[in-house]
Amino acid sequence: MSDRAVERKIAEVLHNNGFPSAGFEARQMVLSAKTETEAMQFLERRLRHEPLQYILGEWEFYGLPFSVGPGVLIPRPDTEVVVETAIKLLNGQSNMRVLDICSGSGCIGIALGVHCNAEVTLLEKSPDALRFLRDNLKCNHIDATVLECDVLEDGLSVAGQDLIISNPPYIKTSVLPSLEREVKCEPKMALDGGEDGLVFYRRITELARSSLKSGGYLVFEIGFDQRDEVMAIFRRNGFEDITCVKDYGGNDRVVFGKMI
Ligand code: GLN
Repeated sequence: MSDRAVERKIAEVLHNNGFPSAGFEARQMVLSAKTETEAMQFLERRLRHEPLQYILGEWEFYGLPFSVGPGVLIPRPDTEVVVETAIKLLNGQSNMRVLDICSGSGCIGIALGVHCNAEVTLLEKSPDALRFLRDNLKCNHIDATVLECDVLEDGLSVAGQDLIISNPPYIKTSVLPSLEREVKCEPKMALDGGEDGLVFYRRITELARSSLKSGGYLVFEIGFDQRDEVMAIFRRNGFEDITCVKDYGGNDRVVFGKMI
């Protein structure tokens, strides 16, 4: 079959199985498969609701290529607003020290390394995610410090940062079973924010107090309903200029604050 015919066939099967972006997904699969057999294998995986991004093995974030697959959270368009906010806060200054905590694929820190020429440190605990993160540093030509550790453990020393940024796990444990099938293929470790969804916000904000320079910023991605609770954590830790930014869907998505 010609590529066009394979694409049409895949699109039809996806459409008949209720996949809303059937045409787009079929095109992506055919572009990324080396053979017709491989394209049909991609289709089989997709019919089992494996995320398209895992099947393709690569996904774009902030105009940059990222290697992704089982074991790492897929970079999402909402997170681009987090990067955009940080770029504004860094205000054209280069060589700023930026720490990305719970960095997963590395998409946030790497985007800031590329766009702001920042001196980036990436902190990640999962060995699976770290494999993707190292690939992504290489393919985006970023030379960063990688800390392989758990941010929830004591004794971490990361002083002297100009900006700390994180898209931590923030979904309440009780909500995890109701997530859609695709999201359930992603690592639970990257999603589970504990009983109230705020475990990482509390810990990272405390860590930021001892790790940010005076006048430095802490920037978080948040869940659409976490604005008030996360802003309260910033206030309790003495941050100022605490601000919430919405994503392009109109949901509260970023909270940042300035270290006094
Ligand atoms: N935004 C992700 C989702 O809705 C959650 C990512 C996270 O927990 N940091 O699935």
